[in-house]
Amino acid sequence: MCRANHRRRLSGNERLCGDEVTTELADEVYMEQALLLAQQAYSCDEVPVGAVVVVDGSIVGEGWNRPVSSCDPTAHAELVALRDAALRLGNYRLSNATLYVTIEPCTMCAGALVHARVKRLVYGAKEPKSGAVDSNCHALQGTHLNHRVLVSAGVLDSRCAQLMSSFFAMRRQQKKEITRKNKY
Ligand code: ZN
Repeated sequence: MCRANHRRRLSGNERLCGDEVTTELADEVYMEQALLLAQQAYSCDEVPVGAVVVVDGSIVGEGWNRPVSSCDPTAHAELVALRDAALRLGNYRLSNATLYVTIEPCTMCAGALVHARVKRLVYGAKEPKSGAVDSNCHALQGTHLNHRVLVSAGVLDSRCAQLMSSFFAMRRQQKKEITRKNKY
């Protein structure tokens, strides 16, 4: 699947120079991995968000959203992936890392990116309700911050958004069925 995407993007983006093509393709490949993790969250009945941390072309951290199943309000996909990466690398600073996440991070996760000194954030779809990078505030751009995170948005965004939509549609359907059953 990833290889097919490569070919499609190459033929459609001839105006890009070599480095830009490489970066864009790599972003899609890693976002595919984040999407797989988001599907894992979905299958666990958690809001489907997935994240990976990449350093020097290797995935060093993975996470999917799991606050309900782990009884941990901080267990967002980004934080789970950052913790995984920090443990694997034996370093709480992730200065050369790029974090890929399917949905725009919230304020908590944006703060964690700064604390971890993550170099770059790549996210898929915007989150109009709780997104804190572009949608509701610009939590990574405050003048008080002592670290700047580079941001790329919109990578495989329609697929990332579609997964969320289908999850919440499924949830609404479940609620309707429960209400209907309780009537009888
Ligand atoms: Zn978050």
